[in-house]
Amino acid sequence: MVTPAEIETLLDSLTPEEQCLLLAGSDVWHTTAIERVGIPRLRVTDGPAGARGTSFTGTRSANVPCGTALAASWNPDLVEEVGRLLGRETRSKGARVLLAPTVNLHRTPTGGRNFECQSEDPLLSARTTVAYVNGVQAEGVASCVKHFVGNDTEFERFTIDNRIDERVLRELYLVPFEAAVREANALAIMTAYNRINGPYAADSKELITDILRTEWGFEGIVMSDWFGLHSTVEGVQAGLDLEMPGPPLQRGKKLISALANGEIPQSDVRLAAHRMLTFLDRIGAFADGEPGKETTLDSAGDRQLIRIAGAAGMVLCKNEADALPLTRPIKRVAVIGPNAGRGQIMGGGSAFVNAAHVSHPLQALTDRLGNAGVEVLSSRGCTTHRTLPTIESRMLGPVTIDLWPTSEEFASGAEPTTSETTNHLRLMWMMPPAPGIAMGTFVARARAEFTPDVSGTWELALTSAGDGILRINDQVVIDDTGDPIGGSYFGFGKHQHGTTVELIAGQPVRLEVEYHRRQIGQIGAFLVGAFPPVTIDLMDEALDAASKADVSIVIVGTNDDWECEGYDRSDINLPGRQDELVKRVAEICPQTIVVVNAGSPVAMPWLDSVDAVLVTWFPGQEFGDALSDVLMGDVEPGGRLPVTFPKRYEDTPAFEHHPGRNGVAHYKEGLLVGYRWFDTVGRTPLFPFGHGLGYGNVEVISATFVDAAVASPTVKVVVRNIGARETAAVVQIYRQRCTSEIQPDDPTQLLVGFGRNVVAPGATGVVSVLLDPRWRTRWDTTTASWVELDGEQALHVGFSSAHVGAKLTFVP
Ligand code: BGC
Repeated sequence: MVTPAEIETLLDSLTPEEQCLLLAGSDVWHTTAIERVGIPRLRVTDGPAGARGTSFTGTRSANVPCGTALAASWNPDLVEEVGRLLGRETRSKGARVLLAPTVNLHRTPTGGRNFECQSEDPLLSARTTVAYVNGVQAEGVASCVKHFVGNDTEFERFTIDNRIDERVLRELYLVPFEAAVREANALAIMTAYNRINGPYAADSKELITDILRTEWGFEGIVMSDWFGLHSTVEGVQAGLDLEMPGPPLQRGKKLISALANGEIPQSDVRLAAHRMLTFLDRIGAFADGEPGKETTLDSAGDRQLIRIAGAAGMVLCKNEADALPLTRPIKRVAVIGPNAGRGQIMGGGSAFVNAAHVSHPLQALTDRLGNAGVEVLSSRGCTTHRTLPTIESRMLGPVTIDLWPTSEEFASGAEPTTSETTNHLRLMWMMPPAPGIAMGTFVARARAEFTPDVSGTWELALTSAGDGILRINDQVVIDDTGDPIGGSYFGFGKHQHGTTVELIAGQPVRLEVEYHRRQIGQIGAFLVGAFPPVTIDLMDEALDAASKADVSIVIVGTNDDWECEGYDRSDINLPGRQDELVKRVAEICPQTIVVVNAGSPVAMPWLDSVDAVLVTWFPGQEFGDALSDVLMGDVEPGGRLPVTFPKRYEDTPAFEHHPGRNGVAHYKEGLLVGYRWFDTVGRTPLFPFGHGLGYGNVEVISATFVDAAVASPTVKVVVRNIGARETAAVVQIYRQRCTSEIQPDDPTQLLVGFGRNVVAPGATGVVSVLLDPRWRTRWDTTTASWVELDGEQALHVGFSSAHVGAKLTFVP
């Protein structure tokens, strides 16, 4: 640790230009070193479902459950342990900053990054966030909480102006950030892409300086989201310390000349540089020196923790006649569905990590049931891809990638500057691809032999961030040169461009991609997709399996193509023919268990005809084993819904106002987000917020204040397990709208505390619930402060927002 005086001295030894350089990245994942005085570069990494390191395809990482899955555990202690694992993972990638957690709220169920975020409820998000940040930071890593604030959907995310009332911001969207700063001392914050009530979040002095630093006492650094800074001077003056990524678009030379021209005082630059140095010191960067090598940990203990956390977030929504767990004698099980063979362990976009180990549902269940002497039948049932999946490596020979620094050099027929061999056709560069090749406008040519395993009409496709040409046997079959940008690769790539070709099984063809990078964003990428001719009727195959089985486990869901950074879903329906698949399986199989593998809510028009529904979210790399643990009853499903499941997309709070028009999104639903809206307008959801069944059966016996006079009182809730198995009681306490202060836009109730405890069969137990210190307050816009509510307060104690097990009254 350096003393404050030493930081001042170091700062004074820097030229004003060097101070400016500290305020922007040097490349995609590093800050700028000032070698002359020994200031090292610092590496940052995404976040939040793992610590990826500098490459999307390189070093492997642990993949933990997604944000909704972690929040669904309603178990901050467990989330903190996962946070510690992520802290260690971050260090294994030579990084000291994890760009996570994502704490924006689920304003609408279609938000493309909802799976990364945690909940529709600010308190549950805050408690999950604090635990996550505490865990990460306990390992000497800074947690960069994102995206401050209002990046709640992906619609026009780089420019949309989100108009959010002050009270709504304070009582909902700012809450998880405030908790991360005040309670967990988060060391870094990332601003959102969008504008908030006018200015870009990255230029908002009100948010960054007035609220975050002055009011909440934040002492860390604030960085822009990638390419999300739009100003040279305003951002610095608003309090944004670091432009990411580098080389800078707004700072660097531009900031140096603004300083020289007197457009910004030296003291403003110095202040931000001071915060950067203090931050580097705090997280040990001076002691570390140059960021270290990237390695994979993948320990047995970490796999086990991810497996436990995966099961802890799974929510059993329905369990008719104790269909689960599968402990009775069974002869034959059909494991069906598009997400069975390849379970979806994570969502798409910057949250992607190259998972160190993956356990898929079909394999895990086959092993598990097979050992118990149960015959397992399986079928995919239908397809769900939105774009064609990447061509499978098993059908490719070695893939040679040749690189040239410019299109001119490539056109001249020069030898490639460098060549490498790989086994896949999913390439992505965010750093210079090889020595001597800058990110500029390089050319990559990929060549491989492709031997199809089925004869017939194959679908092929190319997706590129740049210009791509796909050739088969030297004939151009796809040329996306000149296609408009938009759709893939975080918005910097193009829509997938497809074609069909006739191929013969076992007969190899020469496949070649010629790729020219264009200077848009800091990304170079292309992907070859392929889909074989379908020779059997998948639905018939699945129904045949279901008709022979005693139990069908139908694993449906979305994937990283539907739930991904960069775009929203257009509705909440399961993609493809999955609804039909579930319905028809349920008609012919004696018992149907549906496993929903999606990061956010989906509609379930078949709900009444199935026996059980288990929502797994994107549960991380140990999906298959965690799922078997729950289905077979080794552990109970630990999760409770962190979001309301609506019956239809039309029945959701922001439906009428989302996505916004003419560049502006008015958050007209105000305070009524999630269950607050359902309860207040009297709409019945499919499953209420907080709902989830265990394998036991708990009931509330009584609820009493321990000491109601303190600011943050504890409520002692006595529960009894009348079931036959040990089970968790997840108690939730909701404050009811008080009659003295009814405002038309106030929610009828809101969550003010929760707690959990495990109760043995037939036993009673106590769940102590510490109420949020703001449980009796609301934000008052006239005085710009939290004010206490007058009069009596009624509290409902139960197991979901729709369940009342006991009532309590507080009289001040
Ligand atoms: C995302 C951030 C992420 C950053 C770096 C952006 O596109 O919005 O959440 O941390 O990229 O990958």
